[in-house]
Amino acid sequence: MTRRWLFADQLGPHFLDDPAQPVLLVESKAVFRRRAFHRQKAHLVLSALRHRAAELADQAVFVRAETYAEAVRDLGEPLSVCHPTSRAARGLVQRLGAELLPPRGFVTAPPEFVAWANGRRGLRMEDFYRDARRRLDILMDGTEPAGGTWNLDAENREPPPRGVTRLDVEEPPEIREDDIDAAVREDLDRWERDDGITFIGRDGPRLFPATRAEAVERLRHFVGHRLPAFGPHEDAMLAGDPFLAHSRLSAAFNLGLLDPLEAVEQAEAAYRGGRAGLASVEGFVRQLIGWRDFVWHLYWYFEPGYRRANELKASKPVPRWFAELDADAVEARCLSDVLAGVRDRGWVHHIPRLMVLGNYAMQRGWRPGAMADWFHRAFVDGYEWVMTANVVGMSQYADAGRMSTKPYAAGGAYINRMSDYCGGCRYDPKVRVGDDACPYTAGYWAFLDRHEEQLANNHRMRRPMQGLHRLTDLEALVEQEQARGSRAP
Ligand SMILES: Cc1cc2nc3c(=O)[nH]c(=O)nc-3n(C[C@H](O)[C@H](O)[C@H](O)COP(=O)(O)OP(=O)(O)OC[C@H]3O[C@@H](n4cnc5c(N)ncnc54)[C@H](O)[C@@H]3O)c2cc1C
Ligand code: SF4
Repeated sequence: MTRRWLFADQLGPHFLDDPAQPVLLVESKAVFRRRAFHRQKAHLVLSALRHRAAELADQAVFVRAETYAEAVRDLGEPLSVCHPTSRAARGLVQRLGAELLPPRGFVTAPPEFVAWANGRRGLRMEDFYRDARRRLDILMDGTEPAGGTWNLDAENREPPPRGVTRLDVEEPPEIREDDIDAAVREDLDRWERDDGITFIGRDGPRLFPATRAEAVERLRHFVGHRLPAFGPHEDAMLAGDPFLAHSRLSAAFNLGLLDPLEAVEQAEAAYRGGRAGLASVEGFVRQLIGWRDFVWHLYWYFEPGYRRANELKASKPVPRWFAELDADAVEARCLSDVLAGVRDRGWVHHIPRLMVLGNYAMQRGWRPGAMADWFHRAFVDGYEWVMTANVVGMSQYADAGRMSTKPYAAGGAYINRMSDYCGGCRYDPKVRVGDDACPYTAGYWAFLDRHEEQLANNHRMRRPMQGLHRLTDLEALVEQEQARGSRAP
């Protein structure tokens, strides 16, 4: 049987044709020289790779090399590879002459996506998701969606419960680090000290699964204890509870430790067995067979130049305080807390990513490509394929709406409704001009003013534009925001 070359994001059993198939695993140091990744991300990826090598023992050749090419050439054996997750890695596999197999670890196959997408004017996740539900027969009662409705998003946009600092959900069992983690930590310290390799963010205990067993356990715990609370507060933010009822499984899916379909099947079984409500289960299923697969396919479906799209002509550099996660430089409570979350964990949930980090960058006109690179490096679950649609398309609207109907721009009123941040902030979400002016509120109006022409024909922006025209203090506001610029707010 041909030896299977597994990349570090193909670590689960479903990337092998047979449990006894010979394997090649390569740990490349050059990857860490090219970019400054979050320290905890580097730890997680190396820990996962080394744990897999230890599990496979003699079944695997495990090579630590400067580059992949070096390791593959030295081995000198025919290899097969499941389709890698970046264009660069696919090109390398082709150049090295390995057999390229279809992708695994996603639910919809590429030809199915292409058949769905070809000929459509706008590619919308919701349409793709419904098609996937029907095709895969997930959460369906015959030809109808379970419960009679496709999308329970309206029930899933609740603000945090009043007067609480944490959601009342059970924490997953803590991950216990082992000797492999200790060796990874030592190596990373040494690379920083002696090899000129740099990281961003702080080191800390490993919070995310690095083995199949840890990932399976976290999924089991999530479905059994946290899924029922997942839906309603999916979009909420609490300063004292960064995780709420989110699964914290993205890194496990993206390392290939879990197959999304097994998670979807367990979630559906919880609904059918009366152990979790439809709003939560549908919300979770939509994230996986909808959003996750949708952004994966868009990465390949859109032309390679999509990554450089910049339709709003955002040309400002990402400022240093943001790039280097200097949360202490920021007074705006929401942004400071979220940036601290990235610094300390390499993870925050999707609303802080979209509506606090991405929203601020778009308002200030930071370069979308630089933001995609930052998200890729700063998050434990960041990969090239996730960035294009999520960051360039959804969060920065740099594609002028090829995958979303309007920019995800919002002022302090949204953050105030969905979080407990504003009460303790030195700014006031209702104030547009003056010392207390919320940088999100003022930044929102300044953004609309700057892009009025580009957004004028978007019917979903008609009401915000009418609001803009009613502002009597717009001139002062724009002047104030120009002066604030990209400084830490
Ligand atoms: C600007 C921006 C950047 C993002 N960057 C990443 C990233 O680098 N890696 C990443 O995996 N997700 C990314 N996401 C999507 C989402 O924020 C994370 O998947 C989620 O917050 C991870 O936490 P969780 O596992 O608790 O997710 P849950 O809320 O529990 O959701 C369940 C699963 O759905 C999947 N999922 C949900 N939404 C998306 C999505 N839009 N794209 C891909 N998968 C999705 C994830 O695998 C996740 O584990 C990004 C979203 C935005 C708006
Ligand atoms: S007032 Fe503005 S800056 Fe402060 S927490 Fe609220 S939204 Fe954030």
